[in-house]
Amino acid sequence: MQVNETLIRDVVAQVLAEVGPAPVVTEVGPAPVVAATSHIGSNGVFSDVDKAVAAAREAYEQLCHCSMEDRLRIIDHVRRISIDQCVELGTMEMEETQIGRLDHKIEKLKTLGEKTPGVEFMRSEVFSGDRGLAVIEHAPFGVIGAITPVTHSLPTITGNAVSMIAAGNTLVVNPHPSGKRVATEGVRRFNRAIHADLGIDNLICVIEEPTLESADAIFSHRDIALICVTGGPAVGRAALNSGKRAIVAGPGNPPVVVDETADLDRAARAIIDGAAYDNNLLCIGEKEVFVVQSVFDQMMEAMSRAGAMRLNEQQIEKLTSAAMVQVGEGADRHDVAGKELLGQDAAKLAAAAGTSAPDGTDLLYGETPDTHPFVTVEQMMPFLPFVRCPDVDQAIAWAKEYEHGFRHTSIIHSNNVRNMTRMGRSLETTIFVKNGPSMAGLGLGGEGYLSFSIAGPTGEGVTTPMTFTRERRCSLIDDLCILGR
Ligand code: NAD
Repeated sequence: MQVNETLIRDVVAQVLAEVGPAPVVTEVGPAPVVAATSHIGSNGVFSDVDKAVAAAREAYEQLCHCSMEDRLRIIDHVRRISIDQCVELGTMEMEETQIGRLDHKIEKLKTLGEKTPGVEFMRSEVFSGDRGLAVIEHAPFGVIGAITPVTHSLPTITGNAVSMIAAGNTLVVNPHPSGKRVATEGVRRFNRAIHADLGIDNLICVIEEPTLESADAIFSHRDIALICVTGGPAVGRAALNSGKRAIVAGPGNPPVVVDETADLDRAARAIIDGAAYDNNLLCIGEKEVFVVQSVFDQMMEAMSRAGAMRLNEQQIEKLTSAAMVQVGEGADRHDVAGKELLGQDAAKLAAAAGTSAPDGTDLLYGETPDTHPFVTVEQMMPFLPFVRCPDVDQAIAWAKEYEHGFRHTSIIHSNNVRNMTRMGRSLETTIFVKNGPSMAGLGLGGEGYLSFSIAGPTGEGVTTPMTFTRERRCSLIDDLCILGR
């Protein structure tokens, strides 16, 4: 929808009538300057990149006048809406994207709302010595351009918004076209609540009809200070070619190694929990398993005991022809996951394999060679290929090969610290989980903290508010070092 001036005036009048004058938001320092701009009342929803960036820039200038307590209050609205409205918004996301699982769509919104790092992650450093004091503070960049994936459309926006605003930035989001409606509705609700409480609109802006052209326009906009993309290889390349500083949360193909010292039943439960989550849409989710020969058959039995359903060779081949498609020409021709079965339930995959899965089956699995497309491709389906390996050295070597150098996530089930160490050193992944499901590496059942933008290629790791800051140094010469002389 093209927002015209008359419509804006009407909306502004309506919103002002509803919310009344902007409240004073802080007792210390000045209240945010609420400029009467043409963008107020848009609630962050724009059809045009220039207008979205201008509105986000105005919002940034207002945010600069806010205290940390105000930032906390802003973020609390994003958290509250993600948590309280997770059923409605999660259902909306499921209906729009048609991939993943409804229970997990709902849970992801709640989890991101509850656990995304906020202002508590902000910190400063101090150098104190003979020549005085230097304080290093972490300042915002300004307006950040964010690209979000279809696999977690609104959850990624929730996480990005909390961390980026905690650091004092505002953002303009180009969501995946197949998740644009829930992205837009979520952003509208966030802004409406923030505006009603603090009098600032458009801290989070979204392009309601996102395209590759609107992504490019964000990448090249002079008022976009930083880019953060979450997605596959193409968007990562595009961001890095933009000439701007980019934080790239790129693709993965997380391998699992199981050695002869592993607790196989525990490993099986963990592998099912991780790989079946949201039908294996998570970038950290277990995608292929390398098991040493001496425990391979026992591991396959443990998977059945834990509730996964085993496919035989013919069923796997039938599933593969339905699930994978070939793209590219000549030497570039390769398999990719087809849209038909991506993120679909195990029951649907079983039907494609020519069989049926008992009610409640979350994951299918079976034995394949290492070169099988389900091993080589980031497949995002609840079927897990298991590869028989002569020994742990070969298992680690294959894990490294099929992780494709993304350095994203890897997992080992073992009680041999040497094997853990060798795998960690060899794969060099951003997240390395031992003896748990992949999500434990994000603090969900393990230690640490959560983000759905895990920046492997550019090195920032699991993003936090500090990721979205630039350093500023404030030096006082010869004074306020109160020790000595
Ligand atoms: P995708 O790469 O198809 O799309 C991601 C986003 O990039 C979308 O908004 C899309 O419109 C945009 N896009 C794609 N090509 C572009 C280009 N050339 N220029 C500008 N924008 C472009 O990925 P998807 O299917 O939405 O999501 C799944 C992928 O994202 C998987 O590869 C997964 O591993 C990855 N992912 C990574 C993380 C992480 O934290 N590292 C998190 C979630 C998903």
